[in-house]
Amino acid sequence: MGTTDILIIGAGIAGLMAARRLQRAGLAVRVVEKGVVVGGRLATRPMGAGLADLGAQFFTVRSPQFQQFIDQWLAEGVVFEWSRGWSDGSLLGEQAVDGFPRYAGRAGMAGIANWLAQGVEVELGVEMWGLTAVSPTLWQATDSHNHTYHSRTVLLTPPVPQSLALLANGDTLLHADDQAALDQISYAPCLCGLFWVEGDVHLPEPGALQRPNHRFSWLADNQRKGISPTTLITVHASPAASRELWQTAVNDVLTLMQTELAQFLAAGATISQAQLTKWPYALPETVHPAPFLLTQGTPPLLFAGDAFNGPRVEGAALSGLAAATQIQIELGKLVG
Ligand SMILES: Cc1cc2nc3c(=O)[nH]c(=O)nc-3n(C[C@H](O)[C@H](O)[C@H](O)COP(=O)(O)OP(=O)(O)OC[C@H]3O[C@@H](n4cnc5c(N)ncnc54)[C@H](O)[C@@H]3O)c2cc1C
Repeated sequence: MGTTDILIIGAGIAGLMAARRLQRAGLAVRVVEKGVVVGGRLATRPMGAGLADLGAQFFTVRSPQFQQFIDQWLAEGVVFEWSRGWSDGSLLGEQAVDGFPRYAGRAGMAGIANWLAQGVEVELGVEMWGLTAVSPTLWQATDSHNHTYHSRTVLLTPPVPQSLALLANGDTLLHADDQAALDQISYAPCLCGLFWVEGDVHLPEPGALQRPNHRFSWLADNQRKGISPTTLITVHASPAASRELWQTAVNDVLTLMQTELAQFLAAGATISQAQLTKWPYALPETVHPAPFLLTQGTPPLLFAGDAFNGPRVEGAALSGLAAATQIQIELGKLVG
C-alpha cells in the first residue's frame, strides 16, 4: 500500500475531528478503525427494535471553540439539548436544573460520529497491531491480518494503554519523558447494563437519574430521550462499583442492576432482555496537561483523545483538532 501523509488510528470523535480538519487542508489522510462502526465510546447499539446509548450519554460545552461546532450541529439537527440537569433521586419525578445545557445526538450519540464521518473514508474492521519507525521520517503500521501501512505521521486516538501496546508490539521505544507522561494517564472502567422493559418506567424528568455516590450511578430511558421506539434502559455502575464487580459473572451483575431498576418499574412492567457491556477505559481519571503529546526522537507521532487536556466528549474533540493543527506543522517541516 502507498505511503500516506497521515495515518489516524481510531474513528472516535477525536480521530474524526482531526480527519476532517486535515482533509479540508488538502492532505492525504487514512483513517482505520477496529470496530465495524465509527464512534468508539459514542456507542449507540440496537436491542430488538430499539436503540440505546451505551457509552457517553450526553455532553456539555465549556469552551467557545467547541460551542461554535455545537451551534452548527444544532442547526443541522445532529444534536439537541436534552436537559439542564438531572435529579439525583431525592426529587423523584422532578428535574434538578443548574442552567448548563446537556446535549445528546438526535440519532443517538453515535449519530454525531456518523455525521462527522460523512466525506471521510474510514476503513472499518481494521485493527492495528504494531507500529514501528522504519526510518527517521517513516512509520510502518501492521494490522492484525499482517497487512502493512506506511505513513509520514501517525495520530493515535485509542485509550492510551491500547496505543502504548501498539508501540510495544512494534518494538518502538519512546523517550523516557514521553513514556513517563503517558504512564501517568489512567482511566476508570464502567459496567453498562441495557434492559428492554415491557411497560412503564418511572424515572425523573427528562427520563434519567444521576447519582454520583450510588453504586449504580446512572439510569436513563432511551425512549424518553427520543432515540428509541421501545423502552430500553441504560444503567451504569459507578467507577468504584465497576472495579468491584469487574470479575463478577455477567448474569450476577445484570441481576444486581435489575434489582436496582425494579423500584422504578410500574406495576406489571417486566424486563424481557438484558445485556452487559464492559468498558475497561470509560473515563480518564488522570489526564495529560496538554491537548496532545508529540513524541520526541521519532517520526512525527501524536497521542490525542479524551485523556489530553480535558476529559469527555468536548476534551476529545478539542484534542483531535489541536493534534490536527500540529500535524500540519510537522508535515510542513518534513517537506520544508
Ligand atoms: C460508559 C461511558 C459513559 C460516558 N459518559 C459520558 C458522558 O455522559 N459525557 C461525556 O462527555 N463523555 C462521556 N464518556 C466519555 C466519552 O465517551 C469519551 O470521552 C469520548 O467519546 C472519547 O473519544 P475518543 O475519540 O478520545 O476515544 P474513543 O471514542 O475511545 O475512540 C478511539 C477509537 O479507537 C479505536 N481503536 C482502538 N484501538 C484500535 C486499534 N488497535 N486499531 C484501530 N482502531 C482502534 C476504538 O475502536 C475507538 O473507536 C463516557 C464513556 C463511557 C464509556
